[in-house]
Amino acid sequence: MSTHIIEIPHKPRLVPFEPDQVFFEPGALHYPLGQELLARFKAKGTPIQMTTSHNQVRGIPGETEVEQYRNAKRTLVVGVRKTLKFDTSKPSAEYAIPLSTGCMGHCHYCYLQTTLGAKPYIRAYVNIDEILAQAGEYIAERTPQITRFEAACTSDPVGIEHITGNLKRCIEYIGQQKYGRLRFVTKFAHVEPLLDAQHNGHTRFRFSINADYVIKNFEPATSTFLERIEAAGKVARAGYPLGFIIAPLYRFDGWQDGYRDLLERLAHMLPDDAKQNVTFELIQHRYTKTAKAVIEKRYPKTKLEMNEENRQYKWGRYGRGKYVYKKEAAAELEETLHHLLDLYFPTAKIEYFT
Ligand code: SF4
Repeated sequence: MSTHIIEIPHKPRLVPFEPDQVFFEPGALHYPLGQELLARFKAKGTPIQMTTSHNQVRGIPGETEVEQYRNAKRTLVVGVRKTLKFDTSKPSAEYAIPLSTGCMGHCHYCYLQTTLGAKPYIRAYVNIDEILAQAGEYIAERTPQITRFEAACTSDPVGIEHITGNLKRCIEYIGQQKYGRLRFVTKFAHVEPLLDAQHNGHTRFRFSINADYVIKNFEPATSTFLERIEAAGKVARAGYPLGFIIAPLYRFDGWQDGYRDLLERLAHMLPDDAKQNVTFELIQHRYTKTAKAVIEKRYPKTKLEMNEENRQYKWGRYGRGKYVYKKEAAAELEETLHHLLDLYFPTAKIEYFT
């Protein structure tokens, strides 16, 4: 095994997110968390407005659509999750548990760009007790089978955890459920509020990682690779089952070396006991026609390669297909990653490549 490690230039640490402005739905103030957040933002002097519903949010500044989009990502809407019917989240979990929606990150290929459409602001839900009670009902329905919940389907829940505390509440709730399990993924390193949570090993804490080239070029406003790995070490020492999602696997010039460096550094930096039961999920880059149009509008200078000539069309549900790498190119990605993982993480479980 080579011992050569590429040094990454020092970058200022990403500071935890603070919104530029906050909207409150009136119903949110009937919940303790709503009141707590109102007091928090008043004390900070953050501009606060009331809105009848998040759909009625008006006045996000910006002369162009792109400016409005960027400002929306710095806007928080505090509200009540009305629908308590959870979406399914196959194959990695039975249900998506909604704690928040939206994200302050600017990953060019983020799936939220299309799923949240014209509403990219961040929403935090204050009726967390009702949401957790609903999770309890889903668990009861399936007992004695294990029910798994994914908390990162509509947001990066770590990104606003220092503001809401909802993820910790959820971790501790699931920690008490014999037949419940939780998982989520993050690109943020602000894990401190979660380190003392009573998780009872029921939560798998995953970090999304990528080759340095990919993080630098396509993931603005998220934590750096080094920050994420440092955070992963803390999470492992706090006893959480640990996992990594390498996504999107992206074929840039020199991608083989880039992914080798990634896994070499990861193996070098993670504490030994954290490496034993770690899981990896591998997801190749894909895009839809709609996503491509949105990305080109919002990040006009992106270097993200989305050339249909290099892709194959994979039919999806409801006729909504995606462009993935051609068969040989995808197989090469899969083989290379499997080989590197065997080399650097021989006891890890590779959950899937897709
Ligand atoms: Fe999207 Fe995750 Fe990036 Fe946030 S961190 S913008 S949720 S991909």
